[in-house]
Amino acid sequence: MGILDSKIPSGPLAEKWTKHKNEINLVNPANKRNIDIIVVGTGLAGGSAAASFAELGYNVKTFCYQDSPRRAHSIAAQGGINASKNYQGDGDSDYRLFYDTVKGGDYRSREANVYRLAEVSGNIIDQCVSQGVPFARDYGGLLDNRSFGGVLVSRTFYAKGQTGQQLLLGAYAAMNRQIHRGKIKSYTRHEMLDLVLVDGKARGIIARDLVTGEIERHSAHAVVIASGGYGNLFFLSTYCMGANVMAAWRTHRRGAFFANPCFTQIHPTCIPVSGDHQSKLTLMSESLRNDGRIWVPKNLDDAKAIREGKLKPTQLKEEDRDYYLERRYPAFGNLVPRDVASRAAKERCDAGYGVNKTGEAVYLDFDAAIMRYGSEKALTTGLKDADDAHIRKLGEEVVEAKYGNLFQMYEKIVDENPYKTPMMIYPAVHYTMGGLWVDYNLQTTIPGCYAAGEANFSDHGANRLGASALMQGLADGYFVLPYTIGDFLADDIRTGPIPTDSEEFDKAEKDVLDKINRLMSAKGVNSVDYYHKKLGKIMWNKCGMSRNAEGLKEAIKEIAALRKDFWENVKVPGAANDKNQELEKAGRVADFLEIGELFAMDALERNESCGGHFREEYQTPEGEALRDDKNFKFVSAWEYKGEPKDAKLHKENLIYENIEVKTRSYK
Ligand SMILES: Cc1cc2nc3c(=O)[nH]c(=O)nc-3n(C[C@H](O)[C@H](O)[C@H](O)COP(=O)(O)OP(=O)(O)OC[C@H]3O[C@@H](n4cnc5c(N)ncnc54)[C@H](O)[C@@H]3O)c2cc1C
Repeated sequence: MGILDSKIPSGPLAEKWTKHKNEINLVNPANKRNIDIIVVGTGLAGGSAAASFAELGYNVKTFCYQDSPRRAHSIAAQGGINASKNYQGDGDSDYRLFYDTVKGGDYRSREANVYRLAEVSGNIIDQCVSQGVPFARDYGGLLDNRSFGGVLVSRTFYAKGQTGQQLLLGAYAAMNRQIHRGKIKSYTRHEMLDLVLVDGKARGIIARDLVTGEIERHSAHAVVIASGGYGNLFFLSTYCMGANVMAAWRTHRRGAFFANPCFTQIHPTCIPVSGDHQSKLTLMSESLRNDGRIWVPKNLDDAKAIREGKLKPTQLKEEDRDYYLERRYPAFGNLVPRDVASRAAKERCDAGYGVNKTGEAVYLDFDAAIMRYGSEKALTTGLKDADDAHIRKLGEEVVEAKYGNLFQMYEKIVDENPYKTPMMIYPAVHYTMGGLWVDYNLQTTIPGCYAAGEANFSDHGANRLGASALMQGLADGYFVLPYTIGDFLADDIRTGPIPTDSEEFDKAEKDVLDKINRLMSAKGVNSVDYYHKKLGKIMWNKCGMSRNAEGLKEAIKEIAALRKDFWENVKVPGAANDKNQELEKAGRVADFLEIGELFAMDALERNESCGGHFREEYQTPEGEALRDDKNFKFVSAWEYKGEPKDAKLHKENLIYENIEVKTRSYK
């Protein structure tokens, strides 16, 4: 281990994937019946992979900590999924999707992987439609598209504001077919606590039954980690409450390199934090930026009056509003990429123009869209003399049809009607681009151990464009892993079942039990949440939307000290051999306290700004991210060496042969 071989196939970009598929090893259908695969995680990436493996004939065991695969975090995805179908005839192509994604990621992703992603994106839509996923359709019955940030075409397929839910139901139905056939054994309410290596290959996992507390051994010929992202290390985020890094991190501890841990996406349109009592933040989908206009007052006095409740946003005249994204980025306007929109909101709020009590909110306003849609509706329905009130009503109906569930969610949380008054939004942690390092086959640095979906680092570089995570997770699961995993498994057709009564399983189980016992026998002074919140504050303040060397050095020290305190003083009530949600949380927070430190180290090491990684020392006079392509055009891949401070950095240099690396501009 130690040398990063990304195994990118030779040949022209557009032919690499086909050539690779033609050349890699296959397992014949009869032999697949003798091979077992473990899939940890049954969100979109794991669910689609598991269903596809089983359809091919492999024996699959799936694991998730929820009570059903249907409850994976993927279900929360709202806005949509990209594909280069060019249904709108607006100039889209595989190359353009590839180009937008590489540029969107600020030239910190691997060309060959991203091109493959674009190439299979159309297949994903066909696959999902044939499963019955109810994508939105236009009046003529054809699949509809909308636009997301960072692009100049409409390529986002959607199912109202519930795209993830509908896609997950499709993947879950495909899984269920295989569960019914006995090809998938589904372990719900099970948490993977460790990876087991035999002769250097991933051959199983140690899992805890979260209902009984029992520790179990499971073996297979290969293990796929599809356990999602680690944004919850910030405590407050748009992730589901249970999302955690345990499976990926414990795989890292067993030898898989962890790539770009500091690349995090802060999403610009979330409901602002309202106070210390909160444990969760809510996203308002990016799709809303298709129609919502983002603004703050032009004058500080107006902003102050709004904060003090003396002025309403609807009372502010058009000329007194600063549509700062439209002003700064006329070409992309409100649809600039998320990192750009987030920093611009922070800049305005830091300058004193914030519009809620905390001063950390900007407006997302639908008034213009309501009137525009209303006028169009009036015309198309022959209402020539409709007055403003009537037009507004018609417009609200159109907006409701497009985004109704999001508006309802906003009203329930904020108790304000977003049809009548602009929404208030602020950036929040939303996605982690970092993850387990994988090669072109999605194999980690541990042979036989693969990573898919948000758990790997693969395709998004330093910033993820909207609607690209669902695309990547489903590409990995439906169209990449089913081919590439065979290349490794072809050597296992005569191996036979992997026994679980080996020394390796004994040792891994003992390590897991020791860790649980340590947690249960700490002094019991502070709750797990106490530590999680403290970690979150350090992360947000020093490793969040903007970072500097001094703050990062402080964060490294503070996280290490917090971790020490945690292991001595955490309080985990209840018993280990029983249902115990505090113990589950404790294990997850223990891992967050390790990855947090590596995250800060990675951010400190990267002396440049790129995408979501904004180092205050490296910016243009206009406040834009200043990349250093000469010194930092690489993927950082960290090797576990014990304490996070001892981790060893490896670099995978990124080579761009098919795209010109330019300053990223959205003006
Ligand atoms: C609010 C919200 C809206 C979003 N909207 C969009 C969108 O419109 N378009 C888009 O492209 N992306 C969107 N995203 C991002 C996208 O939803 C996620 O990146 C994606 O769904 C992740 O899928 P996944 O399969 O990799 O992981 P997940 O869906 O997070 O699934 C993880 C799985 O791993 C299991 N697991 C985790 N740890 C363990 C363990 N130790 N043992 C056993 N099982 C484990 C979990 O039980 C779960 O089954 C959104 C994200 C959020 C938060």
